[in-house]
Amino acid sequence: MAKLEILKFPDTRLRKKCKTVDKVTPAIQKLADDMLETMYDFRGIGLAAAQVNEQVRLIVLDTRRPEGDDKDAQDELGGESDLERAIQQPLKIINPVIKKRVGKTTYNEGCLSVPSYFEVVERSKYIEVEALNEKGEKILIKTDGLLAICIQHEIDHLDGKLFIDRLSPIKSARVKAKIKKFGYPEKGEEREDDDEQGDDDNDEMTDSQHRL
Ligand code: ZN
Repeated sequence: MAKLEILKFPDTRLRKKCKTVDKVTPAIQKLADDMLETMYDFRGIGLAAAQVNEQVRLIVLDTRRPEGDDKDAQDELGGESDLERAIQQPLKIINPVIKKRVGKTTYNEGCLSVPSYFEVVERSKYIEVEALNEKGEKILIKTDGLLAICIQHEIDHLDGKLFIDRLSPIKSARVKAKIKKFGYPEKGEEREDDDEQGDDDNDEMTDSQHRL
């Protein structure tokens, strides 16, 4: 396996629409394994092929919380849902299509392509997703919780969309301008809350926040 480079906003390659996978080849399976390794290495819980400059409809996910983690209870979603727990993870899914959506939920999302930024995004609460697994077999995933949020976030990547596009127009423009002006903090360095514009949101990462 190999660790891959993750593209970061405002890299225009993140804006390309990814192509449907016609056949699940060994190359696709290797890409999925490399993506999973890369995702774990950056402590992410989801990664889309678009983020590693491969324009194919492939995503990998692992939203399981560490066992016996007390912080789990403080998770803004209240920890893993029963539906989430029933699904074997990590997941490698190909050509995902959302067939059903029920309800709304919000979550303070982060992204490996927009490191150190977190913003509240609205998503569907429950989803049913048709896809292929890594063996090329048709599967139907029915889930809610963090896994549902993460799948929606990753499918957005396949369509060239980022979570910072889903904020209010004013907030979206402000976050993008800020990144373009200041860039991202170096590894291990916390981004300073240098909000000269005086916004009141707190973007600092806590242990219960996740990069999707
Ligand atoms: Zn992302």
